[in-house]
Amino acid sequence: MISVEEALKIVQANPHSTAVVELPLMASVGKILAENILADRDFPPFNRVAMDGLAFCFEKIDFQKITIENIQFAGEAQKTLQDASKGIEVMTGAILPLGCDTVVRYEDINIQQDGEVKFASISIAKEEIVKGQNVHVQGSDRHAGEVLLQKGIKISPAEIAVMASVGKSKVQVQSTPKIAIISTGDELVEIDKTPLAYQIRTSNAYMLSAALQQIGVEASTFHLIDEEKVLYQKLKEIIATYDILLLSGGVSAGKKDFVPAILADLGLEKLFHKVAQKPGKPMWFGKTPTGKIIFALPGNPVSTFLCFCKYVLPTLKSESKHEEVILDKDIIFKPDLTYFVPVKTYFEAGKMMAKPFLGSGSADFANLTDCDGFVELPAQKQIFKAGEVFSFVRFRGL
Ligand code: AMP
Ligand code: MG
Repeated sequence: MISVEEALKIVQANPHSTAVVELPLMASVGKILAENILADRDFPPFNRVAMDGLAFCFEKIDFQKITIENIQFAGEAQKTLQDASKGIEVMTGAILPLGCDTVVRYEDINIQQDGEVKFASISIAKEEIVKGQNVHVQGSDRHAGEVLLQKGIKISPAEIAVMASVGKSKVQVQSTPKIAIISTGDELVEIDKTPLAYQIRTSNAYMLSAALQQIGVEASTFHLIDEEKVLYQKLKEIIATYDILLLSGGVSAGKKDFVPAILADLGLEKLFHKVAQKPGKPMWFGKTPTGKIIFALPGNPVSTFLCFCKYVLPTLKSESKHEEVILDKDIIFKPDLTYFVPVKTYFEAGKMMAKPFLGSGSADFANLTDCDGFVELPAQKQIFKAGEVFSFVRFRGL
């Protein structure tokens, strides 16, 4: 049996294979960029006026009286200062007129009219003005040809703005994997049915679908009975169509836990089966020769959910941050397993605390409604003291 750390490494070393597709810019939000984006021009592409005001040549003017000879609006071709001792009124976003190097904002000048002639005096001390101020210099942010965005990043509004500015109306992204959620078990009935005394309504597939929905990923759901022929045939069909399979149930030691054997019959490579953890010990992970990924999770709902949050979620989310919490109560756990305990988090003096909700074990999924995630108590220890810091596997507020 492998450790949680080894299992996670194996999962990370075997990402699902995805194709590259070209999408219209606005359909790429939240997707993974599959090309480098280069600056087609300098950023900014010209010396850009950064404040509405007066532009002039710093060395040449009389700060008491600057005759205004012209006006430069945003979106107009560049004008030229004819007389180096004069100035030009300029608007934010305009190209800086040729011959000017400095801009003083309207708030810091007084403009007067003398017949036909308009002139300005600067109302602040000369020392407060710096040559080149309020000019956003061409190429000062990025240079033409520079890589602005690296492939592999997740596209958010900031990346959309950059791509729009370099004229990327279409963008290459990684295609979203097609995901199938497959629950198994003869004891399960659909949620609109009334279960008999020995049956329960299925909930795992809904839980996993909901978790995927929270991160903007769609999935198809299936339910299969614990029958070898049915499992073989249906899984074969599903594997042919989908990139990632999330199975729940049928991977433990029961007489009808056929899933690992069927997956082997279907020619899948087993990358691990059983992890030294509680809950979720019977978890199975493998892949097809073409790089389709199969997570077969134990059916007990808390096990299913923990395995999903710990192993599946990070592979689907491009950015997952490591979080830690402070345990607020002693826990003793002797077995040589990593122990994931449902916890409710809260803040105390700016630190995230975790209150354990042991519940009645891996079938007690009602207990999860009181919690935000799992605290991960490492296998090497047996006594976990209040005040100690441990990793946190979040499932609420992703
Ligand atoms: P298994 O892993 O198939 O042995 O199932 C372990 C436990 O989880 C059993 O009590 C099942 O009834 C329960 N279980 C399995 N699949 C589901 C499901 N889709 N929804 C709710 N409970 C399930
Ligand atoms: Mg079962």
